[in-house]
Amino acid sequence: MPESFVHTGFPSRIVFGAGTLDQVAAEVESLQISKALVIATGSARDAADVVELGLEDRFAGRIDEVRQHVPVERADAARAKAREISADGIVALGGGSAIGLAKAIALTTGLPIVAVPTTYAGSEMTPVWGQTADGAKTTGTDLAVLPRTVVYDPVLSRGLPLGITAASVANALAHCVEATWTVKADPITELTAVEGARALHDGLLAVVEDPHDLDARGNLLYGACLAGSALATAGTGLHHKLCHLLGGTYGLPHAETHAAVLPQVTHLNAPAVPRAKSRLESAIQAENLATGLYDFFSTTGVPTSLRALGLSEQQAKEAAQQFAAGNPANVVPVDEKTLTELLLAAWSGERPS
Ligand code: NAD
Repeated sequence: MPESFVHTGFPSRIVFGAGTLDQVAAEVESLQISKALVIATGSARDAADVVELGLEDRFAGRIDEVRQHVPVERADAARAKAREISADGIVALGGGSAIGLAKAIALTTGLPIVAVPTTYAGSEMTPVWGQTADGAKTTGTDLAVLPRTVVYDPVLSRGLPLGITAASVANALAHCVEATWTVKADPITELTAVEGARALHDGLLAVVEDPHDLDARGNLLYGACLAGSALATAGTGLHHKLCHLLGGTYGLPHAETHAAVLPQVTHLNAPAVPRAKSRLESAIQAENLATGLYDFFSTTGVPTSLRALGLSEQQAKEAAQQFAAGNPANVVPVDEKTLTELLLAAWSGERPS
């Protein structure tokens, strides 16, 4: 029998498969959206054109400019645009940044979102929103921002460059790994997380061989979906909170920051969750989870140091100090000394041992 647990699932509809982009208009219609605002990452412009055509008179307007970490000015401008065109729903195509902007609108208006992810960040499966103002990132949880429908079409991510692919997979793996040690971790989430890690690991190895391999791209999106679900039900812990601080305060790129920090946090925390550690080790075919992640990122070309992302050693120390001041809760108690050691290891990119 498993230990006592509480698991709260989230209601979202998932449409998965090659060519499902063509079903977006029908999904919009079934949500009774009559004036859709389309938000698309620059790289998803072609897909957005297809959606726009399919929507016919349900198309009301479009935003093509999105930024990481949702700067508050962008969020305000997007809300103004939604008001101006009397949008009653949003279709977001792209990575976490496009979906994040849609969530910023939904947060204050309750407009339903149809998400069409083209990276592996997993935001489409979560009720978590984020916004950045004056160098600080604020995140929160609100069911209003959970996309009602998610359309996963692996064809759309076939052109995602290898570097972005590998970093985005690191971001998704971070959801899977951290989901096993947060205060809300539970056995159902753990199963989801372990299966997600397996799909992400196998998918990335195959995509490195052939970036256009549709099966492998499908495996990655499936893994991203499971990783996002695990993040949604387990919430965030030390790892994600550190990455949000680094991204919000020092402007570091989201996915790459995860790759540099995850092996170090895993080295600290994984021994506290031995069953999950061993399951995740077999999912990523590693003898040790922390070094296995580090080696996997290194061999797939993701930078494993914060220094390579432009952070200075002094900033790493400052971040540890700032983070420790908030007395962070963690499965293994941490203080300023532990956090400084951890962030300096992530800064220099040393292999955990
Ligand atoms: P992103 O959306 O900025 O995309 C990364 C890059 O990939 C961009 O340059 C984009 O143009 C390009 N790209 C996207 N799809 C492409 C495609 N199919 N082909 C070619 N290029 C493509 O970054 P991301 O890593 O997907 O998301 C990061 C953001 O998402 C951060 O702001 C992060 O905080 C947020 N996030 C939120 C959650 C949540 O639950 N709220 C979860 C994960 C990430």
